[in-house]
Amino acid sequence: MRILISVDLEGISGVVGKNQIHEEGSGFEWARDKMAKEVNHAIEGALEGGAREIYVNDAHGSMKNIIPDKLHSEAFLISGDLKELSMVEGLQKDVHGLFLIGYHARRGTKGGILDHTYSGRVVSQITINGVELGETGINALVAGAYGVPVLLITGDDKVCQEGIDLLGDVYTVKVKEGLSRYAAICLHPEKAGKIIKEKAREAVTNINRFKPFFMDSPYELRVEVVTSAMADGIEMVPGIKRINPTTLEFVHEDLITLFKVLRVMLVMGGNSS
Ligand SMILES: [Zn+2]
Repeated sequence: MRILISVDLEGISGVVGKNQIHEEGSGFEWARDKMAKEVNHAIEGALEGGAREIYVNDAHGSMKNIIPDKLHSEAFLISGDLKELSMVEGLQKDVHGLFLIGYHARRGTKGGILDHTYSGRVVSQITINGVELGETGINALVAGAYGVPVLLITGDDKVCQEGIDLLGDVYTVKVKEGLSRYAAICLHPEKAGKIIKEKAREAVTNINRFKPFFMDSPYELRVEVVTSAMADGIEMVPGIKRINPTTLEFVHEDLITLFKVLRVMLVMGGNSS
């Protein structure tokens, strides 16, 4: 059995501030170390549950946060950017289940630690077929297109609830309780790791009960951006319709094509602010 682990940084226990998530920040070295440790606990649990091959996709910022020799030696590390499937690169490896470790709530979530959706600077809101989605939902949909279910989500209480609301049957580990965007009550990293290991083992043991996340095709993607200048840039992409000064729409029957166009939209938006 093969498991893919997508790991972000904002949802790691003890991470609450901007200085911990940017490479030049004073807390970054501490945070990247804890990121690797939480992943290692997930790997240990998955191996105990019966996984035989594990891929870890570094999915935050530069996507080079995990120092290779800090990772469990049984796992393959997918490091660096650009990657066809971005945060869920590795799905192409014919994996059977996906873990989302260190995830955060979508933009606009009260008490969601460092909440954003892909690009905090560009995106106000993303919906597909009328359903508001964050990184959890979008990546779960991409995994669904490969027939892969999400087994486990870890992060703050808000992202865990977001995952349950969307996916229903999924294991979650709340490693912190968000009080505001930059404050949380955190589990000790060792305790968080212990629970993650336990839940990872249980999730892999029960893998047959999980269903991939699907929506009906064609997919109608709407992206609301922060400024009209961003929308001016995105509107240049052929096939994209402007719904109002800051909202753009793209419709397609293939989810992976839609996902790639979404990422082009974010690049265009980011270059046009
Ligand atoms: Zn993120």
